[in-house]
Amino acid sequence: MASMSAPTNSDWRAFLGRVWSGHCPRCAEGALFASRFRLRQDCAECGLRYRREQGAMTGQMYLSSVVTEIFAALLVLVVFFGTDWSTSTSIAVGLPIVIVFSYWFLPKSMGLWVAIEFMTDIGNREPWIEERLPRS
Ligand SMILES: [Zn+2]
Repeated sequence: MASMSAPTNSDWRAFLGRVWSGHCPRCAEGALFASRFRLRQDCAECGLRYRREQGAMTGQMYLSSVVTEIFAALLVLVVFFGTDWSTSTSIAVGLPIVIVFSYWFLPKSMGLWVAIEFMTDIGNREPWIEERLPRS
């Protein structure tokens, strides 16, 4: 049985690296996704519940939204200060880039949110912690 201590910085890096590559934060073996944009209910390898309750992914929606908005704002600054494009050209070039970024980042944000919930549950010693502790 793994310890009940809060995740260390190296735990955070390991968990985030696993979900970034689409794998379970606990065992690093099971797939996070059934398809590109569909998160599995549980890990097929270790049984970790990725979607444990209704509304648990609300934070993921905020994460995806905020990161995409920051990306779009940075892109606007780059285009505004780095080019002499007209407004219509800027929109014609920038909008598809932001849309592609948001589609690329959406599954990443789902995985990151699973890892964040997993780590905060360990740190907070939630009642269901025993089944969510990383295997050692
Ligand atoms: Zn797993």
